Amino acid sequence: MSSDHSYLDIAFRNGNVITVNANDDEAQAVGIKGNKIAFVGSNEALHELLDLHTKVYDLDGRTLMPGINDSHFHPILNGMLGTELDSAILDTTPKHCSSLAEMLELIRQTAKIKKPGQWISMMGYEPLLFPEGRHPTLEELDAAAPNNPVHCMHGGGHICMYNSKALEYLGVYSPSDAVKYPADEVEVCAGKLTGMVRGHTHFWLWGQVDYTEEQQKRAAMKSHKQLLEAGITSVGDMGECGKSSYHIMQKLCRDGEFKVRVYMALHSIFGKSYSLADNQHWLDLGFMTGLGDEHFRVGPCKFMIDGGSGGPSCATREPYSHDPSMVRERGWERDETARYIKTINDAECQVTAHAIGDLAIEFMVEGYEKVFAENPEKVRHLRHRIEHCTIVDQDLIDRMARMNICPSVNAGLVAMLGENFTKFYGQRNRYLGALKSMLKAGIKCSLHSDAPSGPVGLKCIDGCVNRYDKIKNVQCDRTQAVTVLEAIRCATLNGAYGSFEEKIKGSIEVGKLADMIVLSDNILKIDPMNIADLNVDLTMIDGIVEYERRKEG
Ligand SMILES: [Zn+2]
Repeated sequence: MSSDHSYLDIAFRNGNVITVNANDDEAQAVGIKGNKIAFVGSNEALHELLDLHTKVYDLDGRTLMPGINDSHFHPILNGMLGTELDSAILDTTPKHCSSLAEMLELIRQTAKIKKPGQWISMMGYEPLLFPEGRHPTLEELDAAAPNNPVHCMHGGGHICMYNSKALEYLGVYSPSDAVKYPADEVEVCAGKLTGMVRGHTHFWLWGQVDYTEEQQKRAAMKSHKQLLEAGITSVGDMGECGKSSYHIMQKLCRDGEFKVRVYMALHSIFGKSYSLADNQHWLDLGFMTGLGDEHFRVGPCKFMIDGGSGGPSCATREPYSHDPSMVRERGWERDETARYIKTINDAECQVTAHAIGDLAIEFMVEGYEKVFAENPEKVRHLRHRIEHCTIVDQDLIDRMARMNICPSVNAGLVAMLGENFTKFYGQRNRYLGALKSMLKAGIKCSLHSDAPSGPVGLKCIDGCVNRYDKIKNVQCDRTQAVTVLEAIRCATLNGAYGSFEEKIKGSIEVGKLADMIVLSDNILKIDPMNIADLNVDLTMIDGIVEYERRKEG
């Protein structure tokens, strides 16, 4: 620990400073000059660097740690979700909508305030948590909104119910029209359309929903407030509405409105055709990953191989444990995945793809191995990623480690869906969100919320440390539980590594950007089961306090 011997602008003392440096050292005090960390060490040594102009915070034993890097977030999508009827996307997550009857009533009410033909968009419902225990039917959706197309998306995002007005966009008017689309993507059951649309067809249809630029900008800024309150100082933006969103996010960062640092993937939430077009455009120009500055940087070229973990609809090698007949969704095949990886790798861009099931992850690992055989140094250098990388095994982990693949893992989701995972995946839970095994293999895995889909900030860390389903109150398999310090390393420095920025941020070390947070207690001393109850007291980005929690009373 060293210091720049001139007076400090801001100082924190009497703290439990988690540095996340190479030795996991703890310290008492931190000093900031301009936008950089200028001192890390003891209270005593700090004293000499203070003058009348130094603003001093007394931490009183609380934790100060690097700001959280949520390596996979959707600021626009997350912010579009709201509970007001005029929200861009109506939030029907279990917290806000507890039954199918309530959800249908929301559609009826929203239809009243929309002009005929305007989309009604909603997201987040969990049929298994409804007392009715099922999805809405096409007839119910048609009755609730006869004149508006309805987009009613399941919490996992990969299954969506549409009404007849929406299916018209696909040219689907009767069950026989469903054959125009890949098997199972426009569901027909007992000779009738059900309204359920899956996979690429669903994502394409979602792309027809008319979200405005103003809605997107407001959404991003709404998420920004949530990010600061959650202690997140960097995000990987892993997909929004396509072309308009890149411009909106870069502009908000450029103009200093969106202070949280952004690493933006080339990817659209509207799926394969949109994402391929965005990636191709970028690759044709010859630019590479990393263009930008420490506020906004262009990230990986991203695509999406399989479905979600919560539906479930991901591509596992073996059938699901609870229902072997369920469709395991696969939007990309083995060979085309390998070919596309090669295209991006040849262009010296970082590759990533959404891959949740072990089969989807195997496609990615195999594809990486093909380019690795040609030029191992290049592949290691490009730090290719896998998004979610949820269900693995030791063999996949060892192969990833060899190639320096940097998965961005959603292990925090266990805190929300752990009991379902136990049901869906059985023994495979021992390698679900496998942070412990990945770290042991030397993989620099990062952590993410995938907001709006999973727990954010300290709630995400809680899920990784405790592996406890906080909704159902059930202890889940603890094989992959990590220590608090390990989870923090994944959530900070490893996130920075995955965006090639570990030299400038992600730990509390002299010379790094002053991105840090103060928690309401000492996270290393409290009962780990209470991590999710901690508050973020202060969030600093670039040496500026962007958020301070109001003291109660
Ligand atoms: Zn995502």
